Amino acid sequence: IKPAFPGRTPMLETKGRLLTGAAGGIGRASALAAARAGARVFVADLDAAGAEESARLVRAAGGQAQAAGCDVAQAASVKTLVAAVVAAFGRIDCAFNNAGIEGSPAPVASLEEDDFDRVIAVNLKGVWLAMKYEIAAMLPHGGGAIVNTASIAGLVGTPGYSAYIASKHGVTGLTKSAALAYASHGIRVNAVCPGFIETAMTGRIFEGQAARKEGLIARIAQGRFGTPEEIAEAVVWMCSDGARYLNGHMLTVDGGYVAM
Ligand code: NAD
Repeated sequence: IKPAFPGRTPMLETKGRLLTGAAGGIGRASALAAARAGARVFVADLDAAGAEESARLVRAAGGQAQAAGCDVAQAASVKTLVAAVVAAFGRIDCAFNNAGIEGSPAPVASLEEDDFDRVIAVNLKGVWLAMKYEIAAMLPHGGGAIVNTASIAGLVGTPGYSAYIASKHGVTGLTKSAALAYASHGIRVNAVCPGFIETAMTGRIFEGQAARKEGLIARIAQGRFGTPEEIAEAVVWMCSDGARYLNGHMLTVDGGYVAM
């Protein structure tokens, strides 16, 4: 196997990693950071062209990457994806289940049923389906590491985005359950809980609402939104052997927002 990024510490050298929701934002930054640390990455997204562009960026930086389209809310699509990763790399050592949608800003009583169902299907069922097939692929190889993307919205509530809040609280529960079920099989399962990060998602949420965004920034201890790279660095560590005793943990990376 050709070493990616020659000269760098081969922390994850030769390890095969699957990342979902990796056409941009936190997922793309994590693909680049994982490849920089030596992992071979397989990037997947509903936006197949965006996933292919992430893979191209990894290869342009000297890493190894493949890409595929996938709808994490569809069992057949996730099953096919995991089989493709195993075919490409022989195994899955690490998985970053990151695909997510924000849904509508509606509070509970004005949320539409379709909106609730779609957010839960992508953010919660999608994480369950990904883990279901990833864990099955990891078990014969003595284990692995899984990181799910929850959110500070999985730790505290807001009046709006109620389906999103529910879905991310669900991800924290699924993460803990999986961590307990598979610890003895050598599989660690953790969740990253990003605060407000500059991505397309927050671009949509705060579009035309500069004053609201400024008000929020005033409540972040570090006085700014985070970058996708700041989440990616945490995810690379969570997947690495350096985090070998981290399990069932929700790692908040939010510039101090929840602590306030
Ligand atoms: P983003 O919109 O750039 O990334 C989300 C990605 O998920 C997109 O590429 C999208 O195409 C993909 N996706 C959506 N539905 C999918 C599906 N059914 N199957 C496969 N892929 C699908 O936004 P982001 O901020 O990078 O979000 C990444 C994750 O981080 C999400 O789970 C989000 O909820 C979470 N998060 C984001 C923030 C933030 O402030 N940006 C904060 C906390 C958590």
